[in-house]
Amino acid sequence: MDTAQLAQALKDRFEADRFFGADALPIRIPTAQSQTAARPAQSNQPVVRLQQLDEATINDRVERLRVIDNDEVKGCTKCGLHQTRDKTVFGVGNAAARLMFVGEGPGRDENASGEPFVGKAGQLLTKMIEAGMGLKREDVYICNIVKCWPPDNRNPAPDEVHACKNYLLRQIEIINPDVIVALGAPAAQTLLGTSDGIGRLRSNWHDFYVSGTRLVGDPIPVMPTYHPAYLLRSPDEKKKSWADLKMVMAKLGLPVPGR
Ligand code: SF4
Repeated sequence: MDTAQLAQALKDRFEADRFFGADALPIRIPTAQSQTAARPAQSNQPVVRLQQLDEATINDRVERLRVIDNDEVKGCTKCGLHQTRDKTVFGVGNAAARLMFVGEGPGRDENASGEPFVGKAGQLLTKMIEAGMGLKREDVYICNIVKCWPPDNRNPAPDEVHACKNYLLRQIEIINPDVIVALGAPAAQTLLGTSDGIGRLRSNWHDFYVSGTRLVGDPIPVMPTYHPAYLLRSPDEKKKSWADLKMVMAKLGLPVPGR
């Protein structure tokens, strides 16, 4: 690796660290680009954080989501995960969100609180959304493939995913986001109907059809990326997730650092 490549690699790493919530860069990379790469580019284009909907439409979505959660999910016994859960974890966020994050399942902290992504991985996801993408956590919608905690934080089993998937499909159908980010292999594989690994799926756009067939309805673009829990174990991969998120920001018309 020559000096220029080393400097670029360091810049990518530090930029990713900063946008995943690190407080400060340990050194300054003396390039002209680094002057702008550490913060979103200024643009005259207005930043559109939410779908532009009237109040009645938003209220209708909120109510439909509430009914599914209260009348179906909270008392659901469709798979064995109901036996070990404390609280169901339906989803949280804005019913007019343009961006939806889908993980695999609640963890121990989420099982106790009833809210998705509140543990350490959730705190990292919030940094990715806020420090990285320049959005607020309440601007997006966050949920999981399964709504009950798989004990010991294991991946949900195929029969559990199958039993729970309809709730997710209805959440997506109601919110109709502009982009879905699939966090980790189980989420990406479930949404995309593939067994490919996350390393192969990430950094590319994929089409998701709520109807289950490309013959009905418009596709929603899906960007698979690493799960925040994996990034906590493998911080060197943050720069890859940051690159994926920059593709998402460009798709949404958000200011992208370094562009
Ligand atoms: S994981 Fe889903 S299908 Fe299984 S009990 Fe919980 S809500 Fe029902």
